Formats: sequence, C-alpha cells, structure tokens
Amino acid sequence: MNRTIRLPPSLRKLQRPWFKEKIDPEIEGYIRFNAKLSEESGNRFGVTAYMSGGADTVVTMAVDKKTGFRMKRLIEREYFQDAVDPKKSILAAMKLEEELQRRGVELNINLSDPYYSFSNDPLERAEWISHELFELALLAINILPQSHFGTEHFKELKIGGWGGGAAKCSEYDSPIVHMFSFVLHGSKRNFLALLLHEIGHSFERILSKKDRRDLQITFEDTDARLGVDYLTGESDRIRYQWDFNECVAENYMHYVTQGSRLLDFVSSLKGRDRDAWEEILNIYAANFDFTTYI
Ligand SMILES: [Zn+2]
Repeated sequence: MNRTIRLPPSLRKLQRPWFKEKIDPEIEGYIRFNAKLSEESGNRFGVTAYMSGGADTVVTMAVDKKTGFRMKRLIEREYFQDAVDPKKSILAAMKLEEELQRRGVELNINLSDPYYSFSNDPLERAEWISHELFELALLAINILPQSHFGTEHFKELKIGGWGGGAAKCSEYDSPIVHMFSFVLHGSKRNFLALLLHEIGHSFERILSKKDRRDLQITFEDTDARLGVDYLTGESDRIRYQWDFNECVAENYMHYVTQGSRLLDFVSSLKGRDRDAWEEILNIYAANFDFTTYI
C-alpha cells in the first residue's frame, strides 16, 4: 500500500539552506552551534558558546553592540522561544508523552544541569523547556511509522542532560534516544535534524539482516551523498556519512524531511549512482510501510 504524507512546513524547512541572507561568519558560527546571548544594561552583550556541543566546552565572551543586536534578531527567528509559560510547556510535554506512550516509548525529561531546579515529577521539569520543542518533536513523531517505536531498540526518549561518551550534541544508546541539553534552547533546525538522526540509529537496528546487508552494499556502491544544512553545514554532514551507521541514520532523517529534494537528487544521478540510490530508496520505502514524504 502506497501512502503519501505531506510534510508540515516546519519539517520541509530542512530542504532549504539555513541562511538566505549574508551573515558575518562569526555570528553564523555562533548561531549554528546554539550559542546563547546575554544582554546587560547599557547594550552590553555577552555570548556563551559551545565549542563542541558538550557540557564541558563552554566559553563566554563579550561581543560588540552591533554583533549583539544582529545575533538577537537571528535568535528570535531560529531558536526555540524561552520557556515563559510553565503550564504551556507542561501541557505540550504531556501531549508528547501520551503519543510516545501509545507507541511504547517512555518520555524522560532529565535535566541534570546546574541551571535548573529539580522537581521530582519528571513532567514538571518540562516547565524549563519551550513548549515549541515538545510540539516540534510531536509533529515529527506523528508522521513516522508506529513500527519504528517501542521495539527493543527504542524504548526511551530522554530530553536533557549530557552523555558520557564521544557524542556531543545528542546520542543513541540502545534503547535510548538522548537529546542533550545542548539542543534544548538552541535552534529548532538542529533539534529536529538531530532527533530524526538519532531515531534513525534505532531504525538501523531494527532492519532485517537482508535489508541491512543490502543497504550496506548499496551505500558502498556509490559515493553520491545528500546533505542537509544544519550544525556546521551541508558538506560536514556529507563527510560524516563515511561511516555506515551514520549514513543510515542521516538518510533516515533525509527520507522523512527531504521530500522532492531527495527525489530530485536521485533523478539528477546517472548510471551506477542512480541505480544504487533507487535501490536505497526502495529499502527505506519498504521499511516505512511504503510511505513517501512530499
Ligand atoms: Zn549518529
């Protein structure tokens, strides 16, 4: 049975380059990596930037007024709003929790940052997070097949805290998809792409032996790769796909968000690359109950 899902605009956004306008590279670097801006009286600005998306790699510095105001405008456009309405945040988290529960996945809001005060009720910790984040996660999860959830490889979505390993922004540690504190107050684009990427890692685990092997052989058969513009940009995301697991996870995100851009990419290829990519799409489609996203 073939099914087509029309992508909500907030997901389709990932098909376009991040910045339309020309931006000071320093500012662009800050925004891409979820840097925070603080404003003191007298138009004095400070930037807190992550060097690599890990808890221990934060630097704080003063920036001039012009840079501060430019960053402020971009942050208003690109980042999740501040969590100003606790009720709204908790309600949005409850809706996400309900849908995840229905799919056999537990929502675990795990804020272990010194910035937060703790509540014993995990849902109450949601008040520190923008309602927009829970709504965006729900929007993405709602269009994914039920069969990708609640398997032995995906039982928990953890929001907040940090990982102990090499991963910096988010990680997948079966059966847990873990979004680090790094992504909670930064750009919507990074959060969305990383969330789908990490779910893509659990997807790689539930593939049949045959599909997994076929996918591996086919990805090895072609060097052609698609990239999405998030974090440090499209070419970095392409480079990252040298590893098979990363390639499957990143292309899971592509399959769900890239719609006609993915189809255009495949039809622009020739010969062996084209054959390989048609086979890749077939394997993804079969594992998405033949759903295509447009
Ligand atoms: Zn990964």
